[in-house]
Amino acid sequence: MMNRQKIDAMLQTIEAECRITQGYTGRSSLRPEVMEAMRLVSRQEFVPPTLTAMAYENSPLPIGNGQTISQPFIVALMTDLLCPEKGDVILEVGAGSGYQAAILSRLVKQVYTLEIIPALAARATVILQRLGYENVVVRQGDGYKGWPEHAPFDGIIVTAAASHVPLPLQEQLKPGGKLIIPIGLPYSFQELLVLEKDQKGIFSTRNVLSVSFVPLTRAQIDSDVKEN
Ligand code: SAH
Repeated sequence: MMNRQKIDAMLQTIEAECRITQGYTGRSSLRPEVMEAMRLVSRQEFVPPTLTAMAYENSPLPIGNGQTISQPFIVALMTDLLCPEKGDVILEVGAGSGYQAAILSRLVKQVYTLEIIPALAARATVILQRLGYENVVVRQGDGYKGWPEHAPFDGIIVTAAASHVPLPLQEQLKPGGKLIIPIGLPYSFQELLVLEKDQKGIFSTRNVLSVSFVPLTRAQIDSDVKEN
């Protein structure tokens, strides 16, 4: 199959998944601009060369260091839940391959993405630069603490599962902004949550879907606890 056919098939699968999960997500379809971004970003550039043939399958794939590039449907859904606007500045926690950041970069003004594993942060930086995604900045670091220098953000997306919603991320979200995050145990019993911060800074939370993400890890829990 040609790449174009594979990408079309991927988009159709995403649409089908949307209809199947509609009862949970409240969405029977995703925004056209989100689907367009999914069509335009070559997922094959973000997966290891040995997995090129599987690049457009609707499944997570290993990217090294025990981490994965997320399932395309989940990437599309999380992007849609963020309600991205052209002028937005978005924080991603868990850059991984850089794929989710590339999708977002086509929809917003600026993407800042944090990755805790140095080798993955380095690789995502190179790939995004090579493909010309100039409005994405990758940094190696612990995303639990967010990125205070660029806060507040119009939206925050976390692509690793945490046991709770990190307070620094709540603080670094603009009023009116959304925080998309999987919460639960490592690898199981996780729920994708959408938190919305109102103009008074009060959060409302909605459970969207059961999901399975790699865990959000912490670099130096001890020193963080002292800091917080
Ligand atoms: N969004 C990625 C999927 C990444 S999987 C993509 O599109 O490919 C989740 C990633 O989160 C992993 O690469 C993992 O190393 C990273 N991660 C885990 N804990 C983290 C933390 N505290 N801060 C930043 N990144 C973290």
